[in-house]
Amino acid sequence: MPFDITSIYTVIGQSVVYILIFLFITAVLASVLIAYSIKTERFIFPNFMLFNITLLENLLKALFRLARMDDDIVDEVGIQLKNKISLKKFRNTPQDRRIIFLPQCLRGVDCPSKLSSEGMQCINCGSCEIGKAKKCAEEKGYKVYIVPGSSFIIRLVRKHKPEAILGVGCMAEIKAGLEMCEKLNLFGVGLTLDKAGCVSTVLDWNNFYEFIGKDN
Ligand code: SF4
Repeated sequence: MPFDITSIYTVIGQSVVYILIFLFITAVLASVLIAYSIKTERFIFPNFMLFNITLLENLLKALFRLARMDDDIVDEVGIQLKNKISLKKFRNTPQDRRIIFLPQCLRGVDCPSKLSSEGMQCINCGSCEIGKAKKCAEEKGYKVYIVPGSSFIIRLVRKHKPEAILGVGCMAEIKAGLEMCEKLNLFGVGLTLDKAGCVSTVLDWNNFYEFIGKDN
């Protein structure tokens, strides 16, 4: 039988088209579920959504932009889903094996803390909520670090070898932090800032206290 290169190319071409159509339909379905989840706070088919967010993030965001919706919703739902997956294991980890990372941008504008190899050294001056929150979390057994960036986080994780991490930060930082936790087999959860930026950022501290207050 003669070798027909043209029909091989045709089969490959058709397969690629079918795969692209399949991915597009999958992404549309996932986008609808993501939009529904953010509106209702009910997560239907979470594994399907997370699978799509992991593999088709850019396509999903493009669909959201096409629908004139905020594409940050994709990241937000991705973070919430990952939090849900890790939460039980996080809570089953002894408190002294958990670390909390707070971003330095949450500090008061006149913060007198000095930078050390363990991050900013808060003296609980009362100018921002960090001092009180740090004390409260440490009393529960957490190690708490106020960090200026991701390189500090990686170094402190290597040094203190936690099993679970609670990270506070902007959406991009939390997303990168949860990916780091997955790579290092750590149980990571993230709380996103209500207002991000370089200084004077805002966190829903009630949410933070509620989170650490739910410990065993
Ligand atoms: S409480 Fe701590 S982090 Fe906040 S401003 Fe005072 S020293 Fe800085």
